[in-house]
Amino acid sequence: MQCQTVLPGTECTFWSKSGCVFETSSCQVVVEACEGCERIVEGSIGQVCSVAPSPAKKWTGGLCNFATHQKVQIENVETKVNPLKASKRAAGR
Ligand code: SF4
Repeated sequence: MQCQTVLPGTECTFWSKSGCVFETSSCQVVVEACEGCERIVEGSIGQVCSVAPSPAKKWTGGLCNFATHQKVQIENVETKVNPLKASKRAAGR
């Protein structure tokens, strides 16, 4: 159904006939870590997230998985090579 409070007219899975059924009966404003994210929209209570009703919770376990401004850095892990096996392989044994 469409939200009638924070983002009026926006389809939201938390809006029901009895109003917002999210835990605090409303979305929550974005947190500092969200700054720069493209999913931030202006709601009636301030800046909110267009995909997550509780931005603070999205950051409790680390990086928000919906964030557009930050991505997980995957470090280049060097594969450990056993020098003995490598020399045998190179020698064609
Ligand atoms: S997607 Fe994540 S980082 Fe972006 S505004 Fe929403 S909660 Fe914040």
